[in-house]
Amino acid sequence: MEEQLRKSDTLNVVGELAAGIAHEIRNPLTSLKGFIQLLKGNIDGYDTYFNIIMSELERIESIVHEFLVLAKPQVVNYKVFNVIKIMQETLELLSPQALMDNVEFRTFYEKDELNTYCEPNHIKQVFINIIKNAIEATVENNTAEKIVSVSISRPNNRWVKIVIEDRGKGISEEKLKCIGEPFYTTKEKGTGLGLMISYKIIKEHDGKIEVASEMNKGTTFSIFLPLKKKKKNAD
Ligand code: ADP
Ligand code: MG
Repeated sequence: MEEQLRKSDTLNVVGELAAGIAHEIRNPLTSLKGFIQLLKGNIDGYDTYFNIIMSELERIESIVHEFLVLAKPQVVNYKVFNVIKIMQETLELLSPQALMDNVEFRTFYEKDELNTYCEPNHIKQVFINIIKNAIEATVENNTAEKIVSVSISRPNNRWVKIVIEDRGKGISEEKLKCIGEPFYTTKEKGTGLGLMISYKIIKEHDGKIEVASEMNKGTTFSIFLPLKKKKKNAD
């Protein structure tokens, strides 16, 4: 109960609304995709159209994906959890997209297990949103080496540090100030909600996010998650 209250306190109206809508869109979307697939197999000569419909539906699906974790009407469940496991699951989930865009993931884990006190589903959402951006920025930079690197370490007794680095198109100093604001996007089909949600989640964890970027060189997101739970949440 307390956790649920905390969630609605910190997620603002925009986030809540987006999450709710995402949840509602998901089921009809799945059914649409199923029926298009069925038609495709039964009607000759319209493959091009079916393929366009399919790829547009997938596009909607990927937007919805950004909010899915938050959209699930589930009780927020903070626990001690291995961040590396969350990252491995995230990379697995995003590997089809990486493969399609020719992007290679490189991982550096200081240990096999680095635990923090966190809401694993929410942290996974943050990783998904930031790594998706990294892939997209890589694709938008033609000269880039198509590599997204992820490293997880414990630099001191306070934090677990997760670094996500791309060699993509970069963010200008001026735009750096705007990222994370609701609906701020530079993408034709962007939502501008992925980072806003990520920042909120990390804030709820009493963590922090730092961003460093150079135009046409790449961007580094560093996420710091506290090792221990906040005192006020002690049970
Ligand atoms: P969206 O991806 O839908 O645009 P986000 O909130 O995820 O929304 O990101 C907001 C904006 O921040 C993006 O449109 C992009 O301009 C910028 N951005 C985020 N991550 C990166 C990155 N790794 N490289 C370059 N630009 C980025
Ligand atoms: Mg995004």
